[in-house]
Amino acid sequence: MTSGDETKDLDQKFEVISINDSNEEDNSQEPVVPHERQIVDDVIAIWKTDPETEELSAGKLHGIVKKRHPNWSVSEKRVKTLLKKFGLLNTDQQITYANDITSEETPDIDLPANLRIIMSAKRGKGLYAKKPIKKGELLWEEPQLFFVPPLENAELIKLGKACSYCGKLLAQSNKVAGASVLRGLDCNVCPEIWCSQKCKKIDNQLHGLLKHNVYNPHASRKNKAINSEAYLDLQNYCIKEQWNALFALAIIYANIVTDKTGVKGKQFRAMARVSQAVRYKALNSSAGAFDSLQGGALFVQEQQESLWQEGYKKFLAVFPQAYEEGKITYDEFLHLMGTYNINNLDYSIYLIQSHLNHNCSPNTSVETSTISRADTLAVYAARDIRAGEELTTTYVNPAHTVQQRQRELRVNWGFVCGCQKCKDDKKDQNKRKSSSASNKDKNDIRKMLAETKDSLDGDSIELDVPEEHHGERRKSVRFDEKVQVSTSN
Ligand SMILES: [Zn+2]
Ligand SMILES: [Zn+2]
Ligand SMILES: [Zn+2]
Repeated sequence: MTSGDETKDLDQKFEVISINDSNEEDNSQEPVVPHERQIVDDVIAIWKTDPETEELSAGKLHGIVKKRHPNWSVSEKRVKTLLKKFGLLNTDQQITYANDITSEETPDIDLPANLRIIMSAKRGKGLYAKKPIKKGELLWEEPQLFFVPPLENAELIKLGKACSYCGKLLAQSNKVAGASVLRGLDCNVCPEIWCSQKCKKIDNQLHGLLKHNVYNPHASRKNKAINSEAYLDLQNYCIKEQWNALFALAIIYANIVTDKTGVKGKQFRAMARVSQAVRYKALNSSAGAFDSLQGGALFVQEQQESLWQEGYKKFLAVFPQAYEEGKITYDEFLHLMGTYNINNLDYSIYLIQSHLNHNCSPNTSVETSTISRADTLAVYAARDIRAGEELTTTYVNPAHTVQQRQRELRVNWGFVCGCQKCKDDKKDQNKRKSSSASNKDKNDIRKMLAETKDSLDGDSIELDVPEEHHGERRKSVRFDEKVQVSTSN
């Protein structure tokens, strides 16, 4: 029977990527009572294979689970209870935290003349057009408020193989001994090198403070605000744990404590703000396991807590003065991390851009340079915009299904998207469902095979993303590729 073969295919697939640790039992004819984790992982695997099944009731999901594991002894009631326990039931009970996100009026912001910020209970802070804007118009350009290089380049930066500021990989000519010395782009204390005079100039002061009070024999006195020894320790810890947010936070906070005007700190604190602990609850209650093929994310709350505690300790050690003044409580630390995670774009923080709210079909196109991450960001009108209309961007990949988008938005930004595209996509799916029910099984298998291939090739099941270009210089940044990685931190 075809359905039997399909079930077998499914089992083989999951054996390969080890979603399911019960294959041995499955092959025997003896009925087994699966562990709750096996059941939950199996439902997640079903959703992952076909996002549309996320709409199914617990009863229907139970039916699919039974079909995949004929020897599992599990009742519909147990499936329902477990889905409820882990907040996976498709109801309104799914955790959102939009109401826990606060924001304040942004101090000292220079806005383009045709834009203004409006605070509302429903949308929080948002950017609005004061007058009509034509499609393609450049709305604004801005530098980073806080520039953060990618953590994955941190090791190369240490070795002098990537720019100490922007993280750009250095060309061979720079690596030849003496070449950068001649160009004056090296650090005279440590092995790090900059890619340009521009990067060196911006970074010079902070580089010294963060990276070598300890082994600079010429330093006459230690800086009280930043302990560079502790920073290097934190940096290595972040590399080891692949913890982007902590790495970024240390750089951001170093910028804040060395900003004599105090404005940067105030601006960061006025941004949409939420505790990482609140975000983690939403992740934990839902799709966290989607990205962890082992299904682990549902079960690591304790581990997460001890990781945060360790990170907090290391963070405090970098900023002894702030610590002494009691400025960073553990709760504040988690808020800083949550704030970073919901506001960063491509690791960095931009002041005006951070005011853009989400729409799955946005009216702006946010673009960063393909030449250098440290270049300015440019925002264009993606279509004609009316006076009074809110400017929007998309936080997620618009090519994802409506279920994937909504899940990512709910977990990462705490809200359920009710935009027109989401409504239209759901309507279309329902139409397709009723018109081509007979083809559905075949399509499922095809889709599943494609995804299996993807997940074996790389560790991502992301679909292809349509690219949009405004000239050749810029690439479009319309969603956060690391979206689920960032929440696990
Ligand atoms: Zn550079
Ligand atoms: Zn140096
Ligand atoms: Zn939407």
